[in-house]
Amino acid sequence: MIIPVRCFSCGRVIGSDYVRFTDRVGEIKKTKNREVTAEEISEILDDLDVTRYCCRRMILSNAELLEEILPFD
Ligand SMILES: [Zn+2]
Repeated sequence: MIIPVRCFSCGRVIGSDYVRFTDRVGEIKKTKNREVTAEEISEILDDLDVTRYCCRRMILSNAELLEEILPFD
């Protein structure tokens, strides 16, 4: 679904970080023509200053289902 604006556990704003995260992941996929590695994901989250594991799980575990649900409106 849509990423929550704040982390459920600590309350840090993560909604804007999610957009930057997906942009960076998409950039790697496009330029290197492969899936991102766990190390690259970790580096991206560190660059975005998402250091707490509660916030990391919010970004990593989000499933983008909005486009799949829209036809059933
Ligand atoms: Zn958090």
